[in-house]
Amino acid sequence: MMSISETIESLRVALSTCTDEHKLLALISEQLSLLRSSHRQSKSDFTNESIQFLKSLNVVESALREFIEALDEKDWIHTHDDAQELACRFGELGEQLAPYLVAKRAEKEMRELISKAKTLPFSAVRAGEIDFHHCLSHLENSGKKCRKCGAKMVLRESQHGYFWGCSTFPKCFGKRWLSSEEAMLLDL
Ligand SMILES: [Zn+2]
Repeated sequence: MMSISETIESLRVALSTCTDEHKLLALISEQLSLLRSSHRQSKSDFTNESIQFLKSLNVVESALREFIEALDEKDWIHTHDDAQELACRFGELGEQLAPYLVAKRAEKEMRELISKAKTLPFSAVRAGEIDFHHCLSHLENSGKKCRKCGAKMVLRESQHGYFWGCSTFPKCFGKRWLSSEEAMLLDL
């Protein structure tokens, strides 16, 4: 079993060499809980300096936990706004984890997200697109029938806008303009 000063030294070494957030978190959590129980048994074994250092590790521990959570969120990012927001969080976590090596990981994630954000649509645009396609399929499923042949009508887009066309086209050329009510539903 390592002495307290050896344990603290091994933590310092891990913090300056380890770039794997999972390994580092596991190590810190495990060692901190061992050290807490040693501290309960004999407070005199701990110097003030080591206590200050261990207290600072509480911050590192929670920042690492948050970092791992934020990494999971990365897969759910589809908008410019969300990417920017998460990039800011990575930036803050990088500051909390500095001066330790793992801070570089958070900074790297931040930079990657900022460049990814440039390729993503703004959330208002995306929400609009989703609404539009939702309304479109809602209208199509309303069961409109072709007046010529009775087949299902589908919405088609031309340079003059959307219209109802027979789904059997080119067998049947049945078509109809959207009613003003339908156009309003699509916000055209
Ligand atoms: Zn038709």
